[in-house]
Amino acid sequence: MSLQKWTDQIPEITKIRNYQPLFWVNDNYDGVIAANKKSPYSMDDIEDASARLDRFAAYFAKYFPETQDNDGIIESELNAIPHMKGFLEDYYDVQIQGDLYLKRDDTLPIAGTIKARGAIYEVLKHAEDLALEQGILTSYEDDYTKFGSQEFKDFFADYKVMVGTTGNLGISVGVMAAALGFNVTIHMSDEAKEWKKNHLREKGVTVVEHKTNFTEAVQHGRNQSQADPKSYFVDDEHSVDLFLGYTVAALRLQKQLEEAGVTVDANHPLFIYSPCGIGGSPGGINFGLKQVFGDHVHSFFAQPTHMPSMLVGLLTKEYDKVSVADFGLDAKTNMDGLAVPRTSGFVAELMHHYFNGGLTVSEEDQKALLSKMIDLEDIHLEPAALAGLPGPAYLFASQAGQAYLDQNNLYDKMDQASHIAWATGGSMVPQEEMEAFYQEGLHYL
Ligand SMILES: *Cc1c(COP(=O)(O)O)cnc(C)c1O
Repeated sequence: MSLQKWTDQIPEITKIRNYQPLFWVNDNYDGVIAANKKSPYSMDDIEDASARLDRFAAYFAKYFPETQDNDGIIESELNAIPHMKGFLEDYYDVQIQGDLYLKRDDTLPIAGTIKARGAIYEVLKHAEDLALEQGILTSYEDDYTKFGSQEFKDFFADYKVMVGTTGNLGISVGVMAAALGFNVTIHMSDEAKEWKKNHLREKGVTVVEHKTNFTEAVQHGRNQSQADPKSYFVDDEHSVDLFLGYTVAALRLQKQLEEAGVTVDANHPLFIYSPCGIGGSPGGINFGLKQVFGDHVHSFFAQPTHMPSMLVGLLTKEYDKVSVADFGLDAKTNMDGLAVPRTSGFVAELMHHYFNGGLTVSEEDQKALLSKMIDLEDIHLEPAALAGLPGPAYLFASQAGQAYLDQNNLYDKMDQASHIAWATGGSMVPQEEMEAFYQEGLHYL
């Protein structure tokens, strides 16, 4: 279809083309039971992934001291952010019913971003497969601390791991694969920050810089890797393992909510707002949450107004066949973790049945929210990690949001609702860069 036809038929496209923030409800969502009938993945896959991470816990506890407090499990806290909720109400001039929390993946050990969930999982699975095949690991019951031994490192040194990235995926893949002893090459797109490249080089990783966007950097990496039988490519656009690694977050969050005394049921809805780049992390996490909480969880992805790749993919049902450039957008965003012009086809097609909707956030609002998060909650997030935060305000302030609450009979339950904005990165940003973000954000307040 042509741009003109889309613009005529889909009301949201005009707003998108004008970079107007919006809250969108996915009318393709037909409940979890219907969605599950169309999904090749299920709770079994999530439990399999979770068990794999549990097997590696002894290795992490021994070799990564920062994971010791949590017995070698890479996980983050859930924090209430009441001051930020108050600010959102003032800033967007709306009352937000329910409690607001921040899921602190900005503090995930080892990699400091949400990528630690999917990317580290995929590298571990590949390492486990190779070690079992070679027989140096005898079974799932074997001693996984062996993965830190010289014997294992010498074995993995013969193998390569590659990835194409805007930066953060490279850090998670690079740090993990290098620690195991793999030969690692990271293909970086032009958004990638200098400090991320330096961090990886210090770990002995080869960084290839591309003067092109994310989609092309991935293609370069994929081509180079395919030419080499001992090379494994972590494919952000197509990887099922990456996706399944993210899903485990749902089991962890379920436990955390229980421990915090937060109920999720028909009378206590849970709203999730997840920053979305290519879609793997919000897709995996929300797929998992739908398996755990069914229709009581309401899942919304969040993207920059300049980079709504998942949104245009779902609205047009063309998924990865459309890029934000097809809509005349400049694809320029400060939220580098979300700088993905074309969504993952596999994730978008699957999640079209699971996401309840999405939203877009302007560059200005993101910048203002970054500084306010520091002032009010003393939490230092990188730009991409703020994208979901306006979600609860839009839900109550927009017509689409009000209609959603109405249709789902949620109005009288919202005082008992929980809203979670998923914070996806920040703790590794160098102090000078964070200070520059902070100063810039003050101009928008
Ligand atoms: C990658 C990333 C995201 C989005 O994850 P996708 O899997 O690309 O959708 C969000 N925030 C940060 C900081 C990221 O690095």
